[in-house]
Amino acid sequence: MNRGNLFIISGPSGAGKGTICNHFLNDDDVYLSVSVTTRNKRNEEIEGVTYFYDTVEGFERRIQDGKMLEWAKYGDNYYGTPKDIVEEKLNNGINVILEIEVQGAFKVKEQMNDAVMIFIVPPSMKELYQRLLDRGRESIGEINKRIDIAKGELKKAIYYDHIVVNDNLKDSVKKVRNIIDERKEKTNLISRLIEELE
Ligand code: 5GP
Repeated sequence: MNRGNLFIISGPSGAGKGTICNHFLNDDDVYLSVSVTTRNKRNEEIEGVTYFYDTVEGFERRIQDGKMLEWAKYGDNYYGTPKDIVEEKLNNGINVILEIEVQGAFKVKEQMNDAVMIFIVPPSMKELYQRLLDRGRESIGEINKRIDIAKGELKKAIYYDHIVVNDNLKDSVKKVRNIIDERKEKTNLISRLIEELE
């Protein structure tokens, strides 16, 4: 059995990466990594499904204990990816999606240079601002902070393997699915050729 492939999905807050990723929850060949965060749980979120929520002390202990594949500070909070489960899924031939911000994305890429990096963008920044306002999750202050972070993130988008403009959700999900399938085909082809030599 071939090892699973790792996919990193980043993009400005409000670009729709979470919604796109949630479409893969029912796909048997894909595992959507559940991150740990120190930010407060939102009403609609579920512990262990959306995130694992931890205290700052708890999070820092996880880092010291070497439990995190990567971690970063976004705004005032820590976010990070638990290492063991990602390794376990990849070893079992399951593709893993990490929905993480850019600093963490590059930390993962340094360790796993075959990771496929996908950056999701909105059709325009005006639309992004409107989406953030419409979803009503964050205060205006928090939205402005996120837009500010987005500027820095967009400057890193050029280093990603793919940029998906999230104009239409269905199309975007299809594009991401195609990226996953293409990588799978590539890995299968290469390992078949190598096997022939063994
Ligand atoms: P939110 O607070 O909107 O759920 O997430 C804020 C940002 O943190 C998003 O850009 C999201 O992709 C990112 N994020 C979520 N989980 C992780 C993680 O495990 N590691 C890193 N580096 N970023 C994360």
